Amino acid sequence: MNLDETIVAISSPPGAGWRGIVRLSGDRAIAIASNIFSPADRGMLEATEGGRVVCGSFHVDGSELPGHMHIFRAPRSYTRQDMAELHLLGAPSVLGLLVESCLYAGARLAEPGEFTARAFLGGAMDLSQVHGVAGMIAARSDRQLRAASRLLHGELSRTAEQAREEIADLLSLVEGALDFAEEPIEFITAEALCERLDMVVTNLEATAAAGLRMERWDRLPLVCLAGPPNAGKSSLLNLLTGVDRVICTPTAGTTRDVVSAPLTIDDLECLLVDTAGLGVPRDELDLTAQLAARKALASADLVLLILDGAALDVDPGPEELAGMFELALPREAGSAPCIRVINKSDLLASRPMIRTAAEAAGSLLVSASSGVGCSELCQQIHRTMLGREVDIHEDAIALMAQHREALEQAIESARRAIDLAGKSRGTLANADLVAAELHITANALAALVGREDTESLLGRVFARFCVGK
Ligand code: GDP
Repeated sequence: MNLDETIVAISSPPGAGWRGIVRLSGDRAIAIASNIFSPADRGMLEATEGGRVVCGSFHVDGSELPGHMHIFRAPRSYTRQDMAELHLLGAPSVLGLLVESCLYAGARLAEPGEFTARAFLGGAMDLSQVHGVAGMIAARSDRQLRAASRLLHGELSRTAEQAREEIADLLSLVEGALDFAEEPIEFITAEALCERLDMVVTNLEATAAAGLRMERWDRLPLVCLAGPPNAGKSSLLNLLTGVDRVICTPTAGTTRDVVSAPLTIDDLECLLVDTAGLGVPRDELDLTAQLAARKALASADLVLLILDGAALDVDPGPEELAGMFELALPREAGSAPCIRVINKSDLLASRPMIRTAAEAAGSLLVSASSGVGCSELCQQIHRTMLGREVDIHEDAIALMAQHREALEQAIESARRAIDLAGKSRGTLANADLVAAELHITANALAALVGREDTESLLGRVFARFCVGK
């Protein structure tokens, strides 16, 4: 990534729109953009100070198209370099021609995430804030957007930085005690050290507890159907999604692959996933299918656990039924919420006891054949998925897996330091071991704000962005 080159890219979303944006960044950004733009007022373009918006027209393939050129002078721009944004009609062909003209005039096509990478390298943001930008792009709800905005506006960086300063301060005291062990100087008592470390741990734990898993946002939430063979999972997927996506037959074990189809319930978009029935594998192929099913269930955001009502020989009581669901729930489903469903209610008309037991066991009775109960099932899917959002703490902050890992590592090593220091009273014993743990804490906190990142890690981070961001 050569920062001396001027880069260009379309930065509005793909497809046609009322307005589109082409972005340039680098020393020649404004000069190159001026080649293809005639301002209504020449003076506005020539002024060298400050940012401005200039009205005018763009020359595109022999025609003049009205638009605006936004000028941002370094260092008061997103990338901290000179930038120009060309706002005009959002037709993909027009925007493409404009980019080509900029390339012809000497710009280079931006790599994915290169504008944000330049912002990072120019000191406009640290690495956790870079993730905040990615989170704001990927957010699918207001709450996710607010959580990503907290990350972007440096809340994680501030917490990590404050903790790092406190740890650095404590380290200097502990190491002072080591260096001057022979002197009768008390740098810090074991009690004072523990007290200050406790504060650090409390703050880091609060941030970790408020964290949302951001790495899941750029995929649709997964709602996985699970249960024994022939319960009607495939039939339910077809019915709920309205497409005949999966073959349904009375032969157990028809579903081999993990098959999915998009499901939209009001404002909720998710992916409904059908998996092979779980049980004693019938053959090698079934074993492979069940392993794939278990893998899919491990990443489920919601599990629909389906039992075949017609297969229940004796009418179970509520507790017995709850036990059956418990048995059928694959352990891979982990902590994902689960909706319990009894299918084939059309075959249970003469067995009212099952209906009573199903209700008492908090399960839903549905029929994939007649559609009865399916709208209640959809409502419950909607409520549960939305409930997860509502549960989100108001102070939620978007965190990537590596943020959570670094926080966890910092918390654990700080706790170990507390345990070590807590073994002594007054004068700190084990100062060398405590110092080693504090170094681990400091490094984990430094990694949180990207101070220790290598070039390859940076490459991976920015490659997640699209071109133009
Ligand atoms: P899966 O193995 O769990 O995916 O089950 P399928 O969807 O393939 O269904 C197994 C058999 O049960 C098929 O013959 C379906 O037609 C039948 N089936 C599914 N749902 C219902 C239902 O609600 N009522 C009745 N009567 N049959 C059903």
